[in-house]
Amino acid sequence: MFEFGGFVVGLERVFDVIRERGARAVGLQFPEGLMRYAIDISRLVGDLSGAEVFISGDSCFGACDMDLRLLEFVDVLFHFAHTPMGSVDPKVVFVEVSSKLSVVPVVKSAVSLFSGSVSRVGVVTTVQHLHTLGEVCWVLESSGLDPVVGVGDGCIAHPGQVIGCNFSTAAAECDEYLFVGSGRFHPIGVAIARRRRVVAADPYTGRAFVVDPEPIIRKRCGVVARALDTESFGIIVSSKPGQERLGLARELLGLVEEHGKRGVIMVMDVVKPDQFLGLGLDALVSTACPRIAVDDGESFGVPILTPVELEIVLGLREWEDFRLDEITCGR
Ligand code: SF4
Repeated sequence: MFEFGGFVVGLERVFDVIRERGARAVGLQFPEGLMRYAIDISRLVGDLSGAEVFISGDSCFGACDMDLRLLEFVDVLFHFAHTPMGSVDPKVVFVEVSSKLSVVPVVKSAVSLFSGSVSRVGVVTTVQHLHTLGEVCWVLESSGLDPVVGVGDGCIAHPGQVIGCNFSTAAAECDEYLFVGSGRFHPIGVAIARRRRVVAADPYTGRAFVVDPEPIIRKRCGVVARALDTESFGIIVSSKPGQERLGLARELLGLVEEHGKRGVIMVMDVVKPDQFLGLGLDALVSTACPRIAVDDGESFGVPILTPVELEIVLGLREWEDFRLDEITCGR
């Protein structure tokens, strides 16, 4: 077992793949939170396998974000701490990384936060805590609850797993949900997608709480209101493999033009506010990572909408049907 800080890293798989494929040059791609271990891991991989090792220095926001340039130079690209979204290049191998934290204490604290009438609880978590699902279900069952672990669509590798742009494992036939993990985005996404209460259990802080989606909903309502009278839209497409939704962008451009407004599709790798300075666009619509509009929208200077929100702006969807954007397979 290979441990780095608070994580168990599946390097056994790395060595097996290098040996089986006879790989001579390999790439390693880490998300920001694991970069501090990148040098140690690369030395270990190089020393024990004899392969030439390159670390990707580019962004790694999620499974959507593969370093395609580095992939050209190596026999295998190992992508750490995510799971595949749909089909991927066979030269890319995903390496799972698990948190060593026990989730049992915080899940026990979370039990009292479910409504009194609740029976079936949908359980969702992020990839780092997937190995704890058995324990989580055991705690819920011991408390008289009926845990349900749903299966997601083709973007989701494991039952019970959620990512920031896909909540399809939140099984529909549940009374309320339990999210195990850190941050508020995932549980809020489930709460909005399913319109039910979500209790979050954060093993990093030891806090359990009921998530409140209202602040995000109000904020998005304000963005939609600002975009109602706009005339020109920049429709953003990311070229990152798991984010690219050119077909959707074309559909949105058609809708914009049908409504007598102007639109243009812009394709880029990373989406940054300064790429739109001086273009004279009234609003943007992001078909790239759904979190860009929600997390970073204020830094763009003009309203940045999700595809769902553009439909509301154009009068094609009621505000009551608002939901967060999701990247589903197939998109
Ligand atoms: S598109 Fe965004 S939310 Fe989805 S996996 Fe990529 S970085 Fe995460």
